[in-house]
Amino acid sequence: MASTDPSQEFDLIVVGCGIAGLSAAVTAQQNGARVAVIERAIKEERGGNTRYTESYWRMSSRDEVSADFEDQLARNSGGYPDPELIKETTRPYDEWPPLLKSLAITDPELISTLAREAPIALQWLETFGVTFDFLPNYFINESTTRMAPVGGGLALVEALATYAETVPGDINFFYETTAKALIRGADGAISGIAAVGKGNRRQEIRGQAVVLASGGFEGSPEMQSHYLGPQALYIRPVARGGHYNRGEGIRMALDAGGAPAGDYGSFHAQPVDPRSGEQEPVVLTYTYGILVNKLGRRFVDEAPATVDASYESRTRIIMQQPEGLAYAIHDGGLDDVPNWQKSVRSRVPPLTADSVPDLAAQIGVDAEALIATIEAYNAACPDPAGFDPIHADGLATQGLEPIKSNWARVLDRPPFRAWPIIAANCFTFGGIKVNTNAQVINMDGEVIPGLYAAGEVVGLYYRNYPGSTSVMRGAVTGRLAALDFTRRHNRAA
Ligand SMILES: Cc1cc2nc3c(=O)[nH]c(=O)nc-3n(C[C@H](O)[C@H](O)[C@H](O)COP(=O)(O)OP(=O)(O)OC[C@H]3O[C@@H](n4cnc5c(N)ncnc54)[C@H](O)[C@@H]3O)c2cc1C
Repeated sequence: MASTDPSQEFDLIVVGCGIAGLSAAVTAQQNGARVAVIERAIKEERGGNTRYTESYWRMSSRDEVSADFEDQLARNSGGYPDPELIKETTRPYDEWPPLLKSLAITDPELISTLAREAPIALQWLETFGVTFDFLPNYFINESTTRMAPVGGGLALVEALATYAETVPGDINFFYETTAKALIRGADGAISGIAAVGKGNRRQEIRGQAVVLASGGFEGSPEMQSHYLGPQALYIRPVARGGHYNRGEGIRMALDAGGAPAGDYGSFHAQPVDPRSGEQEPVVLTYTYGILVNKLGRRFVDEAPATVDASYESRTRIIMQQPEGLAYAIHDGGLDDVPNWQKSVRSRVPPLTADSVPDLAAQIGVDAEALIATIEAYNAACPDPAGFDPIHADGLATQGLEPIKSNWARVLDRPPFRAWPIIAANCFTFGGIKVNTNAQVINMDGEVIPGLYAAGEVVGLYYRNYPGSTSVMRGAVTGRLAALDFTRRHNRAA
């Protein structure tokens, strides 16, 4: 029997304790609501992906998002949607037809709301003692501006959770409790969560609304295989926190009739060393060398643009290679790149050799194939004068398929080095459609009363992930949900 303890009744129920859930819970509490936070992890591991991120925000200052923010989100806001429908986005949102409101695109309204609200969310987070600054990152060359909180996502989780714990009675944490299903009242509005605690104990937690902030499905092999295909076998979450995100929030919203949004067939891919168990063990030097698959063949332009703007699409192509694996191959020329070590976060040393055949033997690739690949590549490299590791230098191969568009220099001097690379899943793109109040929109373009989505549960991304926008998505949508709820709640009280 499920518990029906009246002490399990709250104003707002928040599922998940990352940046999205905590932003929602604390904002609701600050506006007079009594909140329950349901969290699958133990307290010491709360915070999902947020706990492990350095948490860069695509900002040009504390007061403004980066110059390219809206343009990048708009460029990656869908596939090829019907232009006749898109035309209608120029009308006020209330006049949009239901088809458009429920269409799997990122609404222009949501993009401008994120741009407007991100600085407000950042400055709100600072009120809990967190400081944002332009901190160093692992890109040697990049295309935009970013700020991050000192102490990363962990500092955000700890600051908000510590605040929440100092107001006992107002925000109640249910750790080691997994939300499984939404409860609907007789009027059709969402009125609670059915959850499972330790020992498979079922319980019902009641409230006037629910915020689903339980992340994507990067921790669910079943959903990844279903949506991403069989090569999903070779990917894994980029850090421990992702394993907690098993897609229940997204499933619950879909089951309740929520419209899907975000690209279900894609995810934020990062190139990592599969031998490393550290968080986010990226290998991003390959733009200065070449990538080969297990057959010893190049398969992609390693450097079409700055590394921050191109690594995700390269990594998805690595995932499609045999066994989802590639090798970054370098020679001694890597040492001409100042501070290249900051771009390799794996602490497992590369495989090193004095000759290409020896390197081939170490990585288990056919030596003749690797020699042929490197000879063809070397023959296509231009005069290296003008090599500039900090900017896209246009040193492109000539007559080679696939081309290498920048930083193409011959590989001929030892030590030869190789790092294995697989695709890691930072977070999945497939999620739920929301309006600018973070209310879940159903398949008929209407709000589902009492249901909000925040953070990774919100479907926002298609094509290429505009980097450094996911933590801010969590903070902004979490706050929007709580503000909308408390506005309605206080009005009703
Ligand atoms: C290593 C790393 C680096 C990153 N770098 C950046 C960056 O620099 N900038 C950026 O913008 N983004 C970055 N990201 C992505 C970003 O951190 C996340 O997308 C974002 O923090 C997600 O926030 P969230 O609150 O939606 O989910 P999460 O922080 O993942 O929180 C979800 C919470 O829900 C809980 N949960 C899951 N299912 C249930 C359930 N059924 N019941 C109860 N609880 C549940 C989980 O345990 C977890 O605590 C990075 C991610 C990682 C891992």
